[in-house]
Amino acid sequence: MPLDRTRLTAVLQAETERFRAEHPESHTRFAAACDSLLGGVPMTWMLKWTGGHPVYAARARDAWVEDVDGHHYVDFALGDTGAMAGHSPQPVVDAVARRFGELGGATVMLPTEDAAWVGTELSRRFGMQLWSFSLSATDANRWALRLCRAITGRPYVLVFSHCYHGTVDETFITLDAGGRPRSRAGNVGPAVDPTVTTRVVEFNDLAGVQEALADEQVACVLTEPALTNIGIVLPEEGFLDGVREACDRTETLLICDETHTLSAGPGGCTGAWSLQPDLVTLGKSIAGGLPIGAYGVSAEVAARIEALEDADLVDVGGVGGTLAGNVLSLAAARATLGEVLTADAFERMSALCDRFVGGVRGALADHDTAWSIVQLGARAELAFAPEPPRNGTASAALHDGELEDALHLYLLNRGVLITPFHNMALMSPATTEADVDRHTELFGEFLAAIAQ
Ligand code: PMP
Repeated sequence: MPLDRTRLTAVLQAETERFRAEHPESHTRFAAACDSLLGGVPMTWMLKWTGGHPVYAARARDAWVEDVDGHHYVDFALGDTGAMAGHSPQPVVDAVARRFGELGGATVMLPTEDAAWVGTELSRRFGMQLWSFSLSATDANRWALRLCRAITGRPYVLVFSHCYHGTVDETFITLDAGGRPRSRAGNVGPAVDPTVTTRVVEFNDLAGVQEALADEQVACVLTEPALTNIGIVLPEEGFLDGVREACDRTETLLICDETHTLSAGPGGCTGAWSLQPDLVTLGKSIAGGLPIGAYGVSAEVAARIEALEDADLVDVGGVGGTLAGNVLSLAAARATLGEVLTADAFERMSALCDRFVGGVRGALADHDTAWSIVQLGARAELAFAPEPPRNGTASAALHDGELEDALHLYLLNRGVLITPFHNMALMSPATTEADVDRHTELFGEFLAAIAQ
């Protein structure tokens, strides 16, 4: 059914008015915070929430959040994956209380046995031999890139257009309409033009990858196994194998960023699809909501790092952070991986996501709406087109700010959150079938509300 723009605008306006009327306490706090916080928020990306300001959180547990106006939300945003384990899962609460309270200390500059336990568990899941920790996936990626350049002695990295790997300077590059590499629109104060450091091609363009690697000047390819930050773009049959082969032929290293694609299973896409990266980077969810990042390296990469003579890896050489590898994050990671984000949990999360996707497809069919939904294990993403996009540029072209805002606010006003960025929903081990069915019901109502 064609979209009625006039109706959509009216729906968005009505939802915005409802949001204002029903969130007075959040508004008061936001207005007051404008005196002390840039943009009125703790971090400027929080301005992405629709309605004029974010709601203020009062409490969160499992797969729900409560705001200061007393509204209860089913949370499919889950901290944009940071809360994939659910909010404050009990084993993590207990582990943190024990480590920080009972035993004491968070930044003692010394290891505890949790770190090696987590390293062993990540090796079992992702196949990388040795692990090191950061406080964010951004830093895991940043340090992985440094290490790849150091051991190959090559200057460039290769990324895919419209990728996102955190605030990593080298990755803020896209292809323009003419297929030329350009600093990404809105790139804030880059230290150097990313075209100096980075080559960029479209995801699923294997010939492009082969060409970019051919002169053997690229240290590494950094990619998510499926793009998840410009909607979900799945790899086509043979693409990832082809990238691996191109890397092998040119002795280029391959980094899989599994920060979001962990949703595919306990070992992310690397485990689920038997990928063979040289490095894996991770973050966000693996400490149950506490700050952490991690990078794993193959035995061969580890040996090459250990053979570096001039690289200062123990002091001020550019890889490290005071709080990286802190005992609190690692206690939380051990509890999360050992007791919460288990193989059983991923099975349940995936089954719930099947139900979510089935519900959305049913509603789309009922309302004769030709949109598509893509699933990656426990994660699903709606695209406003009949066929899912096959690369980042095609996916970016589908962006429809008004439609997104209207959908997000319609759901939020009725107690359901999806990520403020595009249309992602994630299942946690604490998500229920009733949560999923509530989304299905509201999504159908929204389609009816905007139909001609
Ligand atoms: N990698 C991927 C794939 C991500 O999606 C993100 C954040 N959305 C990051 C890395 C960076 O994570 P963080 O902001 O927690 O550093």
